[in-house]
Amino acid sequence: MNRETKTSRRRFLLAWSAVPAAVALLPWSRAEAGELPPTRACSDKSEPTPPQMAGPFFKPRSPERNSLLVPGIKGTPIILTGVVLSTACKPVPGALLDFWQCDDHGDYDNAGYTLRGHQFTDAAGRYRLETIVPGVYPGRTRHFHVRAQAPNGSVLTTQLYFPGEPGNEGDFLFQRDLLMTVQDAGNAKTARFDFVLKLG
Ligand code: FE
Repeated sequence: MNRETKTSRRRFLLAWSAVPAAVALLPWSRAEAGELPPTRACSDKSEPTPPQMAGPFFKPRSPERNSLLVPGIKGTPIILTGVVLSTACKPVPGALLDFWQCDDHGDYDNAGYTLRGHQFTDAAGRYRLETIVPGVYPGRTRHFHVRAQAPNGSVLTTQLYFPGEPGNEGDFLFQRDLLMTVQDAGNAKTARFDFVLKLG
């Protein structure tokens, strides 16, 4: 191999090694523009999102809203987006997503509905939640709670986790499959999680 060929080969390899980083950044620039990237490539069948316990703080009849931000709320804003898919990788429009979480201090609002809300996926199966990064409370790592249900489907109750949390490894419920992708966006964060529901 002469010097010229070696250089071209190195350039070729460098060009390709840069691709994953560029691709990884793409969804976030689109998400910031308010547009979700296309559904991830997936095979014929995907594993359903695993269930987890609801814990003691679920309350039925949360308000319908996709922003849990209220004036004066403390904490780091985070926008969580994603799609709800079937195990055959088809978007699920009209799926119910009911989120609840603790506040910045690790407390749940059990008297009212602060940091609780439900919404339905759009025609492309997409959802968007504006909220704050939940605090932590004794015995648990940082997490969101969510119930997901396709129209006329059964309820999936689960929890979503943050990557890089010191509490993850020691948490008795933590599951890697339930990690969101989280990125910093100035003083806020963006997160992504796609749910996979077993229909019928
Ligand atoms: Fe909790």
